[in-house]
Amino acid sequence: MSYLWTAEALIDAMGGRPLGNMPAGIHGISIDTRTLQAGDAFFAIRGETMDGHDFATAAIKAGAAVLIVAEGKLPALGRLTAPMIVVPDVLAALEKLAMAARARSRGKVIAVTGSVGKTTTKEALRHVLGSVGSVHASDKSFNNHWGVPLTLARLPEDTEYAVFEIGMNHPGEIRPLVKMVRPHVALITLVAAAHLGFFRDLDEIAEAKAEIFEGIEPGGAALLNRDDPRANMLGKLAREAGVEHVLGFGEHQRSTYRLINCVLNADHSTMTARIGRREVVARIGAPGRHMVQNALAVLGAADLVGADIDRVALALGTLPAPEGRGQRHMLAHGGGSFTLIDESYNANPASMKAALDLLDATPLEGDGRRIAVLGDMLELGAHSEKLHADLSELIVGTGISHVLLGGPHMKALAEVLPSDVAVVHRDEADNLGRLLIDTVQPDDVIMVKSSKGIGFSRIVAALLNRF
Ligand code: ATP
Ligand code: MG
Repeated sequence: MSYLWTAEALIDAMGGRPLGNMPAGIHGISIDTRTLQAGDAFFAIRGETMDGHDFATAAIKAGAAVLIVAEGKLPALGRLTAPMIVVPDVLAALEKLAMAARARSRGKVIAVTGSVGKTTTKEALRHVLGSVGSVHASDKSFNNHWGVPLTLARLPEDTEYAVFEIGMNHPGEIRPLVKMVRPHVALITLVAAAHLGFFRDLDEIAEAKAEIFEGIEPGGAALLNRDDPRANMLGKLAREAGVEHVLGFGEHQRSTYRLINCVLNADHSTMTARIGRREVVARIGAPGRHMVQNALAVLGAADLVGADIDRVALALGTLPAPEGRGQRHMLAHGGGSFTLIDESYNANPASMKAALDLLDATPLEGDGRRIAVLGDMLELGAHSEKLHADLSELIVGTGISHVLLGGPHMKALAEVLPSDVAVVHRDEADNLGRLLIDTVQPDDVIMVKSSKGIGFSRIVAALLNRF
């Protein structure tokens, strides 16, 4: 098997002082000994609570080929030995390697940012581009100051397409990351109230997202959501940043990738899109209006990196829902079954709307009920109480008859829901899980959604375990 990096190229890229018998090369890069594979280089990065240098022994035991450690922090290994490269700053060394990976790659690069849907869109791009060539993409939501350089440093030399998720909580975070990634296409999914706690308003969020334009390759493209109220503002910022091609996707008639028609079904959708004079009809394997939007963005980004659109459209048909983001489970119960929709990965007002719309659109059988199990949306700052209470507009008058609420912020919603909706509010997630297990009936459709920090994935796990 060929190496991801030869030791020579590794030291060339990062500098540093080699100690011990260097291996010929490394097969991968790890910053976490729990997922380290034999033959990886282990970068001892210091996080907020942990320091990679404390895991040097674990890394060697897991088969690390070489350790990258900081000057003055050489780990005491006892009787174990391992080759090391000593550098002034381990994260800076990883960044240098990332830039070397970008410089040697001839692949087409896409960067995805936005307030919601980054991972969903990135995974959809991984899926569809995989049908036309080799793809490298960020693991999970590895989208920050270590996630982006890690993903980039892992980019194999000959991969044809690379897809990077880039995230931020504060202004100034995207700029250095996109300058490493140097995408041919930068896609902004949507500007919405996520991490609003760190920003004054949505315009400020849009400005921070617009930093992504500063790293686009010459001749590259910005792909914007035309239906986003901030599309014009972002377009202007893109042109000011010197982006040569500014294109849109959406229903808006001036979208280059324009949605003409879509039909939403419980487990998939179909859409007709117009690209120039072409019409493309696609089945989208994962349900929900937001997935149609994401699929349109995916078509656009794939087209802009020169992928065959017919094959990309075909691959959309087998798109899986990513973990905790709309996965459906049919669970046996009382001689019948009920449906569990797992949205426990994340929640903010935009994704709550998408998920509640989908629950409302899910057809019922027999005596089934639509039950929304909703937990706190975190990081909404001063707007939090109102944004929670406003969810009532997405519930009142719909086919959602039962609402189970968990977490202190959801109290604001519990207080405004009218009496024809059955409402329960608890502060603790685990309480709600037990209640749900006792009350669920065959044919019910349950949708579980909250911010990750609230731990509603435990409710999903409890249901999967019990039924
Ligand atoms: P993070 O900042 O946590 O990395 P993200 O931007 O990667 O979040 P996802 O994990 O893809 O976002 O999705 C978060 C939630 O938003 C999920 O529940 C998902 O189903 C929903 N979602 C995905 N795409 C959209 C969209 N276009 N509009 C609204 N909601 C969406
Ligand atoms: Mg993500």
